[in-house]
Amino acid sequence: MQTFITKLQTYIKEGDILFKEPMSGHTSFRVGGPADYFVQPASREEIRGAIMAAKEEKVPFFVIGNGSNLLVSDRGWRGMILQVGKNYQEITVDDNIITARSGATLARVAKEALDHSLTGMEFAAGIPGSVGGAVAMNAGAYDGEIRNILLDAEVMTSEGEFITIPAADLDLSYRHSCVFEKDYLVLSARFLLAPGDPGQIRGRMDELARARKEKQPLEYPSAGSTFKRPKGYFAGKLIQDAGLKGYTVGGAQVSEKHSGFVINRGGATAEEIAFLIAQVQKKVEQQFGVRMEPEVRFVGFEEGETACHFLQK
Ligand SMILES: Cc1cc2nc3c(=O)[nH]c(=O)nc-3n(C[C@H](O)[C@H](O)[C@H](O)COP(=O)(O)OP(=O)(O)OC[C@H]3O[C@@H](n4cnc5c(N)ncnc54)[C@H](O)[C@@H]3O)c2cc1C
Repeated sequence: MQTFITKLQTYIKEGDILFKEPMSGHTSFRVGGPADYFVQPASREEIRGAIMAAKEEKVPFFVIGNGSNLLVSDRGWRGMILQVGKNYQEITVDDNIITARSGATLARVAKEALDHSLTGMEFAAGIPGSVGGAVAMNAGAYDGEIRNILLDAEVMTSEGEFITIPAADLDLSYRHSCVFEKDYLVLSARFLLAPGDPGQIRGRMDELARARKEKQPLEYPSAGSTFKRPKGYFAGKLIQDAGLKGYTVGGAQVSEKHSGFVINRGGATAEEIAFLIAQVQKKVEQQFGVRMEPEVRFVGFEEGETACHFLQK
């Protein structure tokens, strides 16, 4: 691995490479074991350099943003976690267009929109993800979605090429984009907003923040909605109707406030969370014949080891 580290160091500053870094400090679930190499690049050349070094040296890598939609295994990640985050978050505003590097949080971009009296971004202010994660997941809330405001995204292809893709070609649909299938890394996004009244923009953001606080268990670590909305149903209602509200495995629990959220009540392990997710999935399917697909992404679980794996234990 020395060759990989040496190569990495030619691209990335010393303080931006961490070793054996606990992922619990970088995920909103607050669980996850160590990443062998945790890298925080500061330019697109650094991003490319780190990924090419990993590919050349056959080091497994995974890209994360703000870690708000991830369940990282207790064993952590053998290889490199590349966090496009705090070192890569410049935002610029030009008329009605906001350009944000993918490491910027949606909250910061929304604040920038407010400061420039631009409307359209209010729905995103309370989503705790990065621009990269939000484009990849087509994040959305309260009738708003990234695809409604996205003009285009600059991505890096798996060959290390930088290209700009119009939103229409990103195959954006409910919590989906082609970013994963095409193996793109999102570098930046341009959002087209409209002039608005700052009082109204702030009012809407405050209103949505109140709604979140009232309905969601924000006082506990979680990854937001655990499951995608199955067609024709609401995941939270199905879970509640299956009698699983408050269902607990160790430190993991189906929130009593919002059944669509699995929370870390304190001291949960990733395995407990994964097991609980699998149980919920199984019980809902048994009772209602509806297969719910996790929205949360599993990282560092072994090949073939999905949530279902834990059911067999
Ligand atoms: C309390 C709470 C509330 C939430 N509410 C909402 C909500 O209302 N609506 C909603 O949609 N989501 C919500 N979420 C989930 C989450 O915030 C979103 O899915 C967000 O878009 C994830 O962004 P992230 O930067 O945290 O991505 P991460 O969790 O770091 O990664 C998620 C996925 O995106 C990929 N990814 C990240 N960055 C990049 C990049 N630059 N290029 C390519 N791929 C990348 C990762 O590989 C991973 O597969 C909530 C989460 C929490 C904890």
